[in-house]
Parts: sequence; C-alpha cells; structure tokens
Amino acid sequence: MGKNIAVIGGGIVGVCSALDLQQAGHHVTLIDRKQPGRETSYGNAGVLSESSVLVMNNPVLLRKLPGLLRNQSTGLRYNPLFVLKRLPWVLKFLSYCTKSHAKHAAKALRALQVLSLGHHKAWINEANVTHLLRYAGWMKLFRTQKGFDGFAAEIEAMQETGVKFTIYEREQIRQLEPGLEPIYEKAVLMDETCGVSSPAELTDAYIAMFIAAGGTVTKADVTGLVPQNPGFEVKHSEGALVFDQVVVAAGPWSADVAKWLGYNVPLGWERGYHMHLEPGDVPQLGRAAYDVEGGFAIAPMRQGVRITSGVEFEHRDAPPNYTQIRKAVAEARKIHKMKGEIDAEPWMGRRPTLIDSLPIVGPAPRHKGLWFNFGHQHLGLSMAPGSAKLITSMIDGGTPPIDASPYRADRFPV
Ligand SMILES: Cc1cc2nc3c(=O)[nH]c(=O)nc-3n(C[C@H](O)[C@H](O)[C@H](O)COP(=O)(O)OP(=O)(O)OC[C@H]3O[C@@H](n4cnc5c(N)ncnc54)[C@H](O)[C@@H]3O)c2cc1C
Repeated sequence: MGKNIAVIGGGIVGVCSALDLQQAGHHVTLIDRKQPGRETSYGNAGVLSESSVLVMNNPVLLRKLPGLLRNQSTGLRYNPLFVLKRLPWVLKFLSYCTKSHAKHAAKALRALQVLSLGHHKAWINEANVTHLLRYAGWMKLFRTQKGFDGFAAEIEAMQETGVKFTIYEREQIRQLEPGLEPIYEKAVLMDETCGVSSPAELTDAYIAMFIAAGGTVTKADVTGLVPQNPGFEVKHSEGALVFDQVVVAAGPWSADVAKWLGYNVPLGWERGYHMHLEPGDVPQLGRAAYDVEGGFAIAPMRQGVRITSGVEFEHRDAPPNYTQIRKAVAEARKIHKMKGEIDAEPWMGRRPTLIDSLPIVGPAPRHKGLWFNFGHQHLGLSMAPGSAKLITSMIDGGTPPIDASPYRADRFPV
C-alpha cells in the first residue's frame, strides 16, 4: 500500500523525488514556499552530465590556492570575511583535497550521473518535452596548452571511470563550433553528456506529470518538523500536516531543516550567477561549453545565450555581488558574438555543497522515516533522478540500483 510522503523542497532534486515516489505508488505532497524549480534549479547551465567526475576539492585545488587567494579569478571568488567566519567548514572542505578521495568521489559521482541520465531521458520522453533535450555533448575549452595540461587530473579521472571523451585541436574546434572565435588551442568534448535548453521548463514538465497523476503541490514555507509515533508533523505557513515519511530536499536550505531535529550537517553553498544575452549574427553554439581559463560557461538556451559564472564563496543570504558575472559576460563577448543583455539584473543561485562534495542521499541516522536528499553541488540537475531512485528503493525496502553507501549521512558525525 502506498505511503503518505512529504517532500520538502521543490527544486529539481525534490521534484524528481516526488515524481519517482509517486510513480512507485505513494501518495506524495511536494511542499515549496515558491513555485517549484525557481531557486538554484532555475538558472543552471542545463548540462545533464555523466562526465563530471572530478570534485572541486581535489589535489589540484591546493596547488592553485596561492593564485586564487588574489581573488581575481572569474572561476572562483570569495568574501574574505565570510571565509574567515566559515573557516572550520572551509578547512574541512580543503581536507578532502586528496588523491584517494578524488578517486572515491569520482566513482560515486559517475554512478549517480549515469543512473540519472537514463531516467532523465525516459521522463523527458514521457513528459513530451524532447525538444528541450540536446545530445551534442558538453565541451571544455582551453586557450593555451598550459591550460590544457592543467586538465590532466580530470582526464585521468574520466579515463578511470569510463567516461567517453574526444580531444579536439584548433581547426577541429573551428569546424565543430564555427560561432566561436578561433582562440582555442584545445577542447575536450564529453561525447555522451546531454543538455537541456531550459532547466525551468524541464522542472515544470516533471511537475505537470506529477500533478496529472494525482500528486499534490503545496505552496508553503515549512517551519518545523515534529516526530510523531509513527510519522512526522510538518508545520508550515499554511498550517500543519502529518505524513508517514518525509524527504528533505531543500537544496541550500536543507541543513536548516535538518537542524530542527538536531542534525548538524556540514552543508555549505557555492553561489553562482547567470545572464542572458541576445544571440548575435553568427552560427549559434551546438552545446554548452566551459572556458576553463576564462572561468565561465556559455550555453545556448531558449531564453538566449546563457553565461554562467564560476563559484563565489559568500554567505547564502548576503546581497548579490555582480562583479564576477560582469567579468564573465565581458570575457564571453570576446569568444562569441552576442547582442544586448536580456535580463534586467543577473540571476543568482546557491549550489548546495557538502565538505566532501558528495550529496547525502539516504536515511536520517536517528529518525525512522526521515530521508535526506541534498548537497548535489554543481551537479543537481545531473544527479536528481538517480538520487530519487535511491530514496524510493530505500523507502520501499528494495535493493538500490547502485551502491548507495558513498552518499550515506552517517559518513559525517551528524
Ligand atoms: C550557475 C550555476 C550553474 C549550474 N550548472 C549546472 C549544470 O549545468 N548541470 C547540473 O547538473 N547542475 C548545475 N548546477 C547545480 C544545480 O543547479 C544545483 O545542484 C541544483 O539546482 C540543486 O537543486 P536542489 O533541488 O537541491 O536545490 P534548489 O533548486 O535550490 O531547490 C530547493 C528548494 O527548496 C525550497 N525550500 C527551501 N527551504 C524551504 C522551506 N523551509 N519551506 C519550503 N520550501 C523550502 C526552495 O524554495 C527551493 O525551491 C549549477 C548551479 C549554478 C548556480
């Protein structure tokens, strides 16, 4: 018999969990204080990756640290005061910059991404939005041989985990992407990675499928979780409801929710921005690409050409600082001709990141019927369906489709 389940948080991670639980026969209520899919999941680069296997906190980051401390990189900026305040978190994050963790995490990320991509494709078909799906791969661009040489660790991680990729030389890049200025020495195309031209429309399509099959979406701010015997009372701005089971998928706000029940989850956030520009009178890009030395991504989207910035270490709730995205847009204009800015203001999102850069997907250690599904860092769109499958199989007492141990909450002293 189906259980009565609440999913807190309607980003792509919560939406996929709600949809999958419902398809498994449960009665699911998805609760979000906003329209689902309008926070971090709204503005990403749309990459459905099966190839992003090297965590950011890998040994190369330690080597780059002295340069990054100058705080001039478009790829990574920080507020020194915030970093000082969050120093324990930052030091723990850096403590994972080891070869052995990079190997462990690469395997875990790859498994979750491969599992997810298959389910995204199936749901995209089922939701009748195949026009959003792009099969053209995802490309990393290098302006110099030195930049490409710095990518060796990622190439090694991809090789070790079976990612299919192709290295392109200058002339091949020009033929593949004639709309790019011919400034790139090398490119790496992750051949089997896919993309979507509107992450928001994808979330909307999944929500529509969920509602059409009887799912409930409640617009409310969840303010408390009280264990019952059995189940949980979910208190929110519109009242309170009791559920058999609860899935916490509140993205960068998940640690706040977990704290209500006494959990101390080492969740941080890496802020990022985007801006849309009108396409120029040049061939449009066939896929999303990341200019590694420029520190920005560029993606052809239904809303325009989307430029996304790298990482900003700053408090989740601090006012936006547009320095980084302005610099990214200026850099992007040098490599691809575009017209005016479409958005009145840049958009900002917060990538939810745990200290080891792996998500938590599994049971809350001290509460039966409470499930955590968050911390998907730069890869929430890519890893949401697989995470949903893991949670559903655990709730149903089945065997998870992949080894779920790397994502357990109790790998930390929560
Ligand atoms: C610039 C940028 C580019 C990116 N590019 C990619 C990419 O190309 N591919 C990829 O895979 N990933 C990408 N990411 C990462 C990806 O966007 C995130 O990992 C993902 O969106 C996280 O989803 P989420 O559902 O966990 O969080 P969110 O989308 O933030 O959703 C959390 C939801 O919880 C709700 N919520 C929180 N607290 C409460 C509460 N108390 N009550 C009610 N509701 C609550 C919020 O309103 C929100 O809707 C990118 C991120 C950024 C910033």
